[in-house]
Amino acid sequence: MGNIHGAERTGRGITLEDLQGIRDRVRAHRLQRRTLHSWAFAQLIAFTRYKAARAGIAFTLVDPAYTSQACPDWGCVSRANRPARGRFACTRCGLAGHADHIAARNIAVRGVAGWAAVNQPHATGLPSARRDRRSNPSA
Ligand SMILES: [Zn+2]
Repeated sequence: MGNIHGAERTGRGITLEDLQGIRDRVRAHRLQRRTLHSWAFAQLIAFTRYKAARAGIAFTLVDPAYTSQACPDWGCVSRANRPARGRFACTRCGLAGHADHIAARNIAVRGVAGWAAVNQPHATGLPSARRDRRSNPSA
């Protein structure tokens, strides 16, 4: 693993959605259906992980489930939060914005929670933000 202390010092990190189920080998059938896409994504992960380690910043993979339907402020998940393609509007709190921007915020929240769970095992994180076991083989 890279420079953990650098990540703690800067408080920065990179989080990607685990789009090929690297964190969950049970989903192998999904992986096989998307071999080409998965290969490209594996390259992206390897490259990003390497660069993050070199820069001393955190790298985490998070569960991609519902990142496009969840409200990053309150966590409520609903299909109704996506009134139109590319548009997010929370039916509960009214948070609205570009769907990709909202999804990125969800990914960031999960990444921070996942990183905290790795480095502070007793910290409470979102249930959806599980640790990236491959980047932390000693865990
Ligand atoms: Zn909301």
